[in-house]
Amino acid sequence: MVGPMSRALAWTSLLRPSIISVMDAVNPTTAALQVSGYRMTTARRSVAQLIGDRKGPFTAADLTRDAADQRMAIGRATIFRTLDVLAELHAVERLDLPTGEHAYVVCEPVHHHHVICSNCGASTDVDDAGWRSVVRDIETKTGYRIDDHRLELFGRCGDCRADGHPT
Ligand SMILES: [Zn+2]
Ligand SMILES: [Zn+2]
Ligand SMILES: [Zn+2]
Repeated sequence: MVGPMSRALAWTSLLRPSIISVMDAVNPTTAALQVSGYRMTTARRSVAQLIGDRKGPFTAADLTRDAADQRMAIGRATIFRTLDVLAELHAVERLDLPTGEHAYVVCEPVHHHHVICSNCGASTDVDDAGWRSVVRDIETKTGYRIDDHRLELFGRCGDCRADGHPT
């Protein structure tokens, strides 16, 4: 069985300059689409470009606005569909916000977690080290074999705390 992790690693190993033009290698989302065998439609390329121009987490609504600003002829539905494809490829990660909305962030396709600022939306990648023993513990207690998990932590980043926002 091919799990999401091994699929993610499979496309990383394909990210060599020999197969991907240097220009596309600059944008990891474009590269992921190319090596995955998904057809690189104009719409998908445009969405990958919009994502490449973004810094930090973004929502589908952000991309829809960006597309409108740049007079790109791509609609909401295409943006949502492309984000689904990219999330499936682990080229972007979907973050569940406390508001119930989703944000997306471009990440290394390696398992990790995020600390997200609820004030400004900044996000920091954190590795898994301390969490692994907790997962093993849960396996022992429940008898499950845990294949996957997600964990996002919300709070206020250093900048926002320094700005004197109430905690
Ligand atoms: Zn990340
Ligand atoms: Zn912040
Ligand atoms: Zn983890």
